[in-house]
Amino acid sequence: METLWKKKLEQLEKHHHLRSCKTYAYIDASHVRMDDKSYLMMASNDYLGLAHDRRVLEAAKEALVQYGLGSTGSRLTSGTNPVVTTFERELAEFKGSEKALVYNTGYMANVGVITGLMKSNDVIIGDELNHASIIDGCRLSGATLVTYRHKDMMDLEAKLKEHEGKQILIVTDSVFSMDGDIAPLPDIVELAQKYGALTMVDDAHATGVLGDGRGSSHYFNVPIDIQIGTMSKALGSEGGFVAGSKVLIDYLINKSRSFIYSTALSPVTVAGALASLRIIRDDSSVVSQLHSNVEAMKMYLQQVGVTVATETPIFPIIVGDAATALAMSEALHDKGIILTAIRPPTVPRGGSRLRLTVTAAHNKQDLEMVAREIAANI
Ligand SMILES: *Cc1c(COP(=O)(O)O)cnc(C)c1O
Repeated sequence: METLWKKKLEQLEKHHHLRSCKTYAYIDASHVRMDDKSYLMMASNDYLGLAHDRRVLEAAKEALVQYGLGSTGSRLTSGTNPVVTTFERELAEFKGSEKALVYNTGYMANVGVITGLMKSNDVIIGDELNHASIIDGCRLSGATLVTYRHKDMMDLEAKLKEHEGKQILIVTDSVFSMDGDIAPLPDIVELAQKYGALTMVDDAHATGVLGDGRGSSHYFNVPIDIQIGTMSKALGSEGGFVAGSKVLIDYLINKSRSFIYSTALSPVTVAGALASLRIIRDDSSVVSQLHSNVEAMKMYLQQVGVTVATETPIFPIIVGDAATALAMSEALHDKGIILTAIRPPTVPRGGSRLRLTVTAAHNKQDLEMVAREIAANI
């Protein structure tokens, strides 16, 4: 077997698709250290800089002292920490739904919710650019998976017509993770109502980001049956969640395997996420700082003649082939900027890119410098 693995790795390297993990130590919310050098981080999903916020760290520290580190078991065996109960209650209210349920990661939320709800006679219709964790959930469920062209509502309706009469779930990223554009939720919800389908939206990059931070359902003012999210992005912590009706959550507690058969999150990470949620809810300056930085980045890129289409803090700088993306990422690294190359299979062939993310923790001078360096190295 190992000979085969080695050969596959060599093939990946030859096509500039080989990946490896680098070790970075965070110095503050926007800088990391590597080999005794400081770098500006432009590839983080900590959109509001809350992973390093003093209030969040204090809450986590307090939970650590009060409850200890580990949760000691699945919630159905050793019980739920009161921090988690409080988080779920406040999160449900924040999301405008009856109830919420925490999973260990956003990945596990997508896989656990989809496999818990959909069975082999059912049909899942999803956008072709949906996140890998949605796709894995669909595959594992055994339901028929049908994809529609990216944000193409005519194609979605055609697929709905084709499967009319079955139990149908429409699932989409709200903010697309590698492109930074937004799904047309009002149209999707209208079609779902017309064909009697359930709607599920993955708000991983929308919570704390779109509008006042409550996510896509609130942003568009449309009802979504199943709202997925993560605490690992704008909430600056770790964990995933689903928000929806009381019966949905009660059903998942009984039927969702990635919820049932895994040890619950540490109260420390949930306490941090709860503090972040309260900051987003009660202190609008954090989200507006993010929006102000996004507008500034757009302007700086425009000034240096780099066109990037985006509606969110995710700026896909598409360069085409993987070798060019890698070379550009390395050139920027030499300039003290971390901007990771995203290559197939995460994005389609020919769609290799640098995925730049702006956060509330960046300062405008740094963003202007980054725009200049991108223009000089593109
Ligand atoms: C990051 C991401 C996830 C996974 O969330 P984790 O908490 O990191 O496991 C799910 N969906 C989308 C769209 C994401 O970008």
